[in-house]
Amino acid sequence: MTALRTAVPARADVPREATWDTDSIFASPGAWETAFARVEEGLPAVAAYAGRLAEGPDVLAGYFAAAEELSALLGKVFVYANLNYAVDTLDMEAQARADRARGLSARVQAALAFAEPELLAVGPETLGQWAAEHPPLATYRHYFDMLARRAPHVRSAEVEALLKQAADPFATAAGIHGTLTNTDLTFAPAVGADGAEYDVQQGNINKLTFDPDRAVRRSAWESYADAHLAHRNTLAACLSAGVKQNVFLARARGYESALHAALAPNHIPVEVFRALLETFRRHLPTWHRYWGLRRRALGLERIAPYDVKAPLGGDAPAAVPYEQAVAWIADGMAPLGPEYVEAMRRGASEARWVDRAPNRGKRMGAFSSGTPGTNPFILMSYNDDLLSLSTLAHELGHSMHSYLSWRAQPFVYARYGLFAAEVASNFNQAVVRAHLLEKFRGDRAFEIALLEEAMSNFHRYFFVMPTLARFEQEMHERVWRGEALTAATLTDRMADLFAEGFGPDVEIDRDRVGSTWMQFSTHLYANFYVFQYATGISGAHALAERVLSGKENAVEDYLGFLRAGGSKYPLDALRDAGVDLASPEPVEKAFAVMAGYVDRLEALVSAAG
Ligand SMILES: [Zn+2]
Repeated sequence: MTALRTAVPARADVPREATWDTDSIFASPGAWETAFARVEEGLPAVAAYAGRLAEGPDVLAGYFAAAEELSALLGKVFVYANLNYAVDTLDMEAQARADRARGLSARVQAALAFAEPELLAVGPETLGQWAAEHPPLATYRHYFDMLARRAPHVRSAEVEALLKQAADPFATAAGIHGTLTNTDLTFAPAVGADGAEYDVQQGNINKLTFDPDRAVRRSAWESYADAHLAHRNTLAACLSAGVKQNVFLARARGYESALHAALAPNHIPVEVFRALLETFRRHLPTWHRYWGLRRRALGLERIAPYDVKAPLGGDAPAAVPYEQAVAWIADGMAPLGPEYVEAMRRGASEARWVDRAPNRGKRMGAFSSGTPGTNPFILMSYNDDLLSLSTLAHELGHSMHSYLSWRAQPFVYARYGLFAAEVASNFNQAVVRAHLLEKFRGDRAFEIALLEEAMSNFHRYFFVMPTLARFEQEMHERVWRGEALTAATLTDRMADLFAEGFGPDVEIDRDRVGSTWMQFSTHLYANFYVFQYATGISGAHALAERVLSGKENAVEDYLGFLRAGGSKYPLDALRDAGVDLASPEPVEKAFAVMAGYVDRLEALVSAAG
């Protein structure tokens, strides 16, 4: 087999400026050990509050202060260990530290588990009174409100303890699915039109689907689907167990449905979920128009799912080195003001938030991670192209959200959920894209590349994710009704949903398209997680439009949303920033933006005739 991969360097050979500065958390593994020991030593003092929280507001305030100090230090211990493991999974010492940090975290969670049931026993009314009369507790008003909303669904302490203990064995279904697809699956090589063979792996399958050679795309896509299909029954058993777990927990806590159970903690009405899917479905013709454009541009009678990312532009656009990407992202984000831009630019360059070079043993994908008191670090493998630029813009959106929230909020609200997170990240992509589309107007190859990057981003967030959300909802409803999920029912329904999304210009290979659910080993186990990518991209475009059109207070409103962190329910925080995700309007707007991309791409592609 031809190894068409350039040699990837060992971790030790990556230049320092391309690595993140985890020494800024702990100067050495020795300093990390010291902090680890301090967390262990601090545990008994916090645990000693058990049984005492009802004594009064002073005791409760003392508990919060102690628990937060311990959690803050634990956060640093955890982040340092996990980041250093993520960049070199071959480093056994880093692995051991990550393992120990996970164990320590579980011990701290267990030691603090008494607090919620005790607070619920005190009762929302008394807690509200304490918050009103006792200044150190005023901050916790929203936290008490979140607790109160969950109260009707919290079982007795004994049952809650049992349910928490069940979480680990329950996670086995997703674990088996992931182990099978990430470790045990082997993929037949892809074969190009010239007979050259290409390795297919989890790490490069996405890249192969962008290949200009249709034979490479087709064989890679088929190889990837076929490897999953070979284990369809085992994977169906895993997913069925995962869905049953969600249904079981929803019933055990007295929710109306698994969907209600998933959305309630963030105070998101189920109507938001339903309206998203409804609006998505109504606008599928915009997607059909895009597939039709691709079919004509590629000169095919019908396209296949492996053609949805085939390059339309002809010549490859110029490379985008990392420093160039940082400069363009900074230019694009200028409307948010110099303070935001300078913090972001510094983070992406001299402050070394970003670990950007590929190296052996480094985790795939990209993420932003950290904790109050550390930098908001970013892991990615930067490839000198527009997709990498866009990924960097996305992750910097997350990192700046954390940066501003960690500075503005007390510890209890420093974190925020995915619903808000994906607005901040997609906002940066939307704004940077708008800037580059304007800057490169007239540069045909670059414009096409920009629009194709935009469409591949929309494809994942605004086509695949909502389709998976429809699937997820139906599968949960079936299990709720007591019906069985088999490989055949899952694959059939998945194929139907994609057939509807692809429309008349796309040829569907039902088994392989239907295997898409097998290819998401984490998302579909996360209990109504994926729809938040679609609401995220919608909210982002609505807010970007406000900022770019110069609407009064739009910038301050947006920065206020970032600084709000977890101090408000996400729908409220977004409404305060100027977008109502409970209405269909932002989703409609995102489709309008997408339709604009399709028009522009159509004009560019047909201009070449
Ligand atoms: Zn993200």
